Amino acid sequence: MSDIRFDAKVAIVTGAGGGLGRQYALELARRGAKVVVNDLGGNLDGTGGSPAAAEGVAAEIKAAGGEAIANASSVTDDAGMAAMVQQAMDAWGRIDVLIANAGILRDKSFTKMTVPDFEAVLNVHLLGTVKPTKAVWDIMRAQNYGRIVVTTSSTGLYGNFGQANYGAAKLGLIGFINTLKLEGQKNNIHANAISPVAGTRMTESLVTPEVFKAIAPQYVMPGVIYLASDAAPSGAILAAGGGAFALARMYETEGVHLAPADLSAEAVRDNWARIGDEAGQQAYAAGGEQGQKFFRKMAGG
Ligand code: NAD
Repeated sequence: MSDIRFDAKVAIVTGAGGGLGRQYALELARRGAKVVVNDLGGNLDGTGGSPAAAEGVAAEIKAAGGEAIANASSVTDDAGMAAMVQQAMDAWGRIDVLIANAGILRDKSFTKMTVPDFEAVLNVHLLGTVKPTKAVWDIMRAQNYGRIVVTTSSTGLYGNFGQANYGAAKLGLIGFINTLKLEGQKNNIHANAISPVAGTRMTESLVTPEVFKAIAPQYVMPGVIYLASDAAPSGAILAAGGGAFALARMYETEGVHLAPADLSAEAVRDNWARIGDEAGQQAYAAGGEQGQKFFRKMAGG
């Protein structure tokens, strides 16, 4: 099989001034892409900002013989995202890949979490993915080509104490790509999610130095490079960390149909095990498939 290459392609990576995003940007450039290195350069909680982070990674790419533009706009800034995309279009004339990776944390138990803490995290992760995606979407449609990778998390998929804000944002991104995968299909726009586990400033305080090294960002990077490539699937959620790769999927059980005469809260209670029976469960490709099943069951099928 041939190598995955990005020659003549243009990629934008948000939050690429450090951690995972830096690794993605360096590798895309090494494989021939022209790269916009976006990073606000702020603190882990979203405060502050400096162009040094984006500029540092863009300089690394150029020093290795690649092409890069540094951009220090916040992903939460509509006009800033539009200007970033225009900057790339003026320089290179197309945008093939968007990796929405920027992120912050405001961890607290829900009891202690303020609404502003919730909003700040939703803004950066969820709207901070929507805004750059919106800015590239019509360009990708016109090109009949696009690869979008959003960044979810095991917290969004399964939950984690102290991260109600982060989890809500991260699962919101799965809802986002579930529809982009459908709307992008006829224009060859594929949308996927990475669910990484990696040693970065986000996880530094949670693991030992040995584990931190063993789960370095470069072990996640190959999965993202594949999701950004011509051969990428669409609608996949790729979990990756330390060299391990797995797909996360949502399944729905076959369930039961309660005839009108049997319909009651008690019947739902009494049928709970049957409603949850995993035999025949399915992963749906679109929301309408759930409705089709209900209509089939209503008709006695
Ligand atoms: P990181 O803090 O090193 O990287 C995040 C980057 O985003 C930082 O460089 C930061 O400056 C930038 N950023 C923050 N707010 C921004 C904004 N408004 N505009 C532009 N840039 C902004 O941490 P990381 O671990 O590399 O995180 C990358 C992504 O992976 C995040 O979305 C994170 O939630 C996700 N993630 C990481 C892990 C993990 O184990 N490290 C697990 C699950 C998900």
